[in-house]
Amino acid sequence: MNIILMGPPGAGKGTQSEKILAKYNIPHISTGDMFREAIKNQTKLGMEAQSYINSGKLVPDEVTIGLVKERLSQPDCANGYLLDGFPRTIPQAEALEKLSQEIARPVEIVVNITANKDVLVERISQRRVCPSCGNSYHLTFKKPQVENVCDGCGASLIQRKDDTIESLNVRLDAYENQTKPLVDFYSEKGLCKEVDGLQSIDDVFKNIQDILDEVK
Ligand code: ADP
Ligand code: ADP
Ligand code: ZN
Repeated sequence: MNIILMGPPGAGKGTQSEKILAKYNIPHISTGDMFREAIKNQTKLGMEAQSYINSGKLVPDEVTIGLVKERLSQPDCANGYLLDGFPRTIPQAEALEKLSQEIARPVEIVVNITANKDVLVERISQRRVCPSCGNSYHLTFKKPQVENVCDGCGASLIQRKDDTIESLNVRLDAYENQTKPLVDFYSEKGLCKEVDGLQSIDDVFKNIQDILDEVK
């Protein structure tokens, strides 16, 4: 399957990706995770991306497209992909059209998870993440078994540097102005399916499973 998960920051893309991966065996490509890994390792890409990410701005298209191009050309993507957080702009979506044709894996379905601003603010402020394996938690809705400790790998949880209200406001603007137009872009191609992200984590996943099982 060749899938895109779309939605504003905090809608639940990362959370649902974890569940999709556990059930369907496809490579998970999260540009946010890839940038965070590059920042952690202080690579050239990481240094370039860092200031954009911390302030909530989108990383420039040519940098992001280059990163995804390299990842999609890895052999595992010949069996499909789950894109999480890419594309986020029209030029990125146009670049993806070309890249996905090159690997003969055109986008089959775009799942757009929706939520309103109040809920996004609440989710982002209560989000905690594992700096080691990337798992994400919520202080109320997805608590780790031991307070502040990652269930997966035992590392201490942290709050993301860009999960501040200032940065979130910039990210929400970027979503409205640059990412939302993609809903029309993919709806016109008949590929976009909306899922109500205000439901519980499990109910959102049920909706997504129904959509994906239709594609298979
Ligand atoms: P969120 O949880 O807010 O949806 P992500 O983890 O997907 O965030 O991304 C974190 C940050 O990484 C974004 O705010 C942006 O700065 C950068 N980023 C991630 N994906 C992209 C992309 N496709 N284009 C540009 N910047 C991106
Ligand atoms: P995104 O990747 O879209 O930015 P996340 O998957 O990281 O979003 O989710 C943001 C926060 O909200 C996390 O703390 C996560 O545990 C929590 N969360 C995700 N989906 C739900 C949901 N359906 N109900 C309640 N909390 C959720
Ligand atoms: Zn972990």
